[in-house]
Amino acid sequence: KERTLAMVKPDALSRLGDILETIHAAKLIVIKAKMTTLTLSQASDFYMEHQSKPFFSNLVQFMSSGPVVAMELMGDEAIGAWRRLLGPTDSATARQEAQDSVRARFGTDGTQNAGHGSDSVASAAREVEFFFPSTAGH
Ligand code: ATP
Repeated sequence: KERTLAMVKPDALSRLGDILETIHAAKLIVIKAKMTTLTLSQASDFYMEHQSKPFFSNLVQFMSSGPVVAMELMGDEAIGAWRRLLGPTDSATARQEAQDSVRARFGTDGTQNAGHGSDSVASAAREVEFFFPSTAGH
């Protein structure tokens, strides 16, 4: 079984129930969950790989604009499965190309796109640790 970090972004928090239903229907298991509001600094750390991008400032403003729900998901090929459920990054593209996807259904635009999913085993490990730090010494 694989693990991944899924996040419901501030624009889709009110659709958390629908998103949990989608996760359940895909046979992914929620093994950890936390609601939190990121500070600008935390959002910048989470997305540090994008710090040189033109959309970075908008992205971190948005990500700290309200509560998010972070979840560790487990299942067969959980990383790819959750990213397929999310759909294309831009919600408008998702509405054209993947109408059943989370971003098509609940996203707003290219930045406010309802959800996040780790893109590799390495980023999943980093992002799970970001939200659910393991006890020092382990
Ligand atoms: P995520 O990492 O959130 O699952 P992703 O992997 O599909 O999304 P990334 O390229 O990692 O996309 O970008 C991270 C986030 O930055 C996107 O989810 C989106 O919120 C924002 N973003 C990415 N590309 C753009 C863009 N061209 N314009 C505006 N915002 C963008």
